[in-house]
Amino acid sequence: MSLRPRAHIHLANIADNWRILQAAQTNGVTAAAIKADAYGHGLPQVADALHEAGCDHFFVAHSHEAEVTRATLGSHPNIYVLNGPSPDEEALYRENALIPVINSSFQFRTMADWLVDGIKMPRGYVLHFDTGMNRLGLPPKDAHDLAEAGAAQDPILIMSHLACSEDSDAMMNGHQLETLKTISNAFPDTPMSLSNSGGVWLGPDYHFTLTRPGIALYGGGHPPEGADLKPGMTLEAPILQVRQIEAGDTVGYGATWRATEPRLIATLAIGYGDGFPRSASSKGFASLGGKRCPMVGRVSMDLITIDVTEAAELARPGVYAQLIGPDAPLEEQAALAGTIGYELTTGLTPRVKRIYES
Ligand SMILES: *Cc1c(COP(=O)(O)O)cnc(C)c1O
Repeated sequence: MSLRPRAHIHLANIADNWRILQAAQTNGVTAAAIKADAYGHGLPQVADALHEAGCDHFFVAHSHEAEVTRATLGSHPNIYVLNGPSPDEEALYRENALIPVINSSFQFRTMADWLVDGIKMPRGYVLHFDTGMNRLGLPPKDAHDLAEAGAAQDPILIMSHLACSEDSDAMMNGHQLETLKTISNAFPDTPMSLSNSGGVWLGPDYHFTLTRPGIALYGGGHPPEGADLKPGMTLEAPILQVRQIEAGDTVGYGATWRATEPRLIATLAIGYGDGFPRSASSKGFASLGGKRCPMVGRVSMDLITIDVTEAAELARPGVYAQLIGPDAPLEEQAALAGTIGYELTTGLTPRVKRIYES
């Protein structure tokens, strides 16, 4: 048996989470954000499972991710490229029937150049307006001009992105919603999209024609009570060694953690070289048979030390401890490491073996 960290990818849970998100919508369709290797879960496998479940709309950030999605899923689904097109990518977009998301006037001109010969984009294009995030997107004031300039081919979707969707009290949500509604006056018959996962939980006003959840598919984010999302992955690592230490002994690099009484310490075969953040040092935990064992001392490149005194009967070499999963909720572990679920799963390196389970 190889003593390697592994992530069981729960494809059935991811599909169930998509169904929960679809059911949370009164009308419209639920797309899936599968950028960054489906948040570290594996793009082709997740795309396949969601397509099986009935998802027909997939959002990625980069055109190379879109190519993989197309090769995996065949010709049917719509594949949207959030970061937008570069001028030299016309053939790639046309051959793979990719839907460019137009984020800037430069990207709009790129698109317009592709349309001059009168051959429309096979699945159309999306206009992304920036309604307050000031990150990516066209200015709302240009909506009417863009509606006229789009004469060669109309956009199939108008979208924007929420800055504060995880905070249902944030004033900004309402402001962005109103701004998008104003933009929609310039495109009276065009479908609209505003919500990521957090936006889905904000309720029907935010749903429009299409929602674009990502993190919720993988069991993360901050769903409302009762949403009952399931973990997208279970991350675990084997114990390599168990040792008894005495009061006054220290653990790990920098000797940053010191025992005040005799403790039992287990060393796990996972570290920041696997993408488990060093910021979890002496803050995160691993679960052994449901018992929480705190991380003690620094997370190093290949190893993490945990205090297994309370789970001594289970602590043996070769036994796997859970770092993300049903006994170690993603967002809780991420928060302890000073980060968010997105970064934790996306950061897992190829050294973590992915095991796909349906
Ligand atoms: C990543 C992304 C999403 C998905 O966001 P989640 O918070 O993971 O649900 C939706 N829309 C855009 C524009 C994105 O970049």
